[in-house]
Amino acid sequence: KSKELGKNKYQFCDYFMKNSVYEEMKLTNYLYQALDRDELILCYQPQVNTITGEIIGVEALIRWYHPQIGFISPKHFIPIAEKTGLIVAVGEWVLRTACRQKKEWLDKGILDVPIAVNLSVNQFVNNSIVIQIENILNETGINPSHLDIEVTERIFMKDSEYVIRTLEQLKCLGVTISIDDFGTEYSSLNYLKTLPLDKIKIAMEFVRGIGNNEKDEAIIKAMIILGKSLGLEVIAEGVETKEQLEFLEDNLCDGIQGYYFYRPMLGDDLEKIMSVNDSEMIVS
Ligand code: C2E
Ligand code: MG
Ligand code: MG
Ligand code: MG
Repeated sequence: KSKELGKNKYQFCDYFMKNSVYEEMKLTNYLYQALDRDELILCYQPQVNTITGEIIGVEALIRWYHPQIGFISPKHFIPIAEKTGLIVAVGEWVLRTACRQKKEWLDKGILDVPIAVNLSVNQFVNNSIVIQIENILNETGINPSHLDIEVTERIFMKDSEYVIRTLEQLKCLGVTISIDDFGTEYSSLNYLKTLPLDKIKIAMEFVRGIGNNEKDEAIIKAMIILGKSLGLEVIAEGVETKEQLEFLEDNLCDGIQGYYFYRPMLGDDLEKIMSVNDSEMIVS
């Protein structure tokens, strides 16, 4: 019987793999075109101060609307872009677009907070990432301190000497560095000691457990204490409920990002919300 099961399993995997390889090739081609055809856009999700609710940062999140397929999640296409090397071009587009948006907000005198951009490990493949970022900052006319680079712990699986050197160079430029999805990937606490970090972002997976999983709660408490003891800013991701917010507030988490406050939205929509908030303040 187990032989039979094994065979079925094999056939299933084989079928699935054929399909996914085909699908990946198709998506790779589409993604290549997407860059030229303006199918990619960035959404922006504010991060807020846990106590005051004041916006302290905005994260740029990529969106892809394919004319036939429709919306394709970055969780789906970013790994494909990473595998095929397209992430270098996509990543450069993201950086430039986010910095341009930041410049627009600077000129309008709104959203005077840093903009966070996700950087994939494969954008670290050659030395040009530092130069690329420096050029984009110059070209768009924003200060390095306006840009916050988010990396995941996956980058430490690469040659660590090289990663450390690159992060140090980025830090020298004046951009800030955040560890995204903290605690979910290849974790070694040693890097907290050696790297020039500014912020850690507690992964949504842990936040989900608030109110129903004591271990998640214990881990979050420890992460906040750890981060703050090291002088890092601590942000919790994926906060959707009042209960989660209150737990994070009680445990002195600095910042919150999540649907409870704001969903990711188009830059123009975020601007509208800002101006509504302003006029409310004038009225009251
Ligand atoms: P991430 O950087 O950890 O981004 C946070 C994700 O959580 C985003 O998903 C955001 O929409 C979602 N999120 C925020 N608040 C909540 C909440 O309260 N509830 C729930 N359920 N979700 C929330 P998104 O935009 O689908 O992005 C997924 C991942 O794709 C990102 O995770 C990041 O790893 C990657 N990604 C997105 N944009 C880029 C990009 O421009 N470049 C690279 N390299 N990766 C990107
Ligand atoms: Mg992120
Ligand atoms: Mg994250
Ligand atoms: Mg605009």
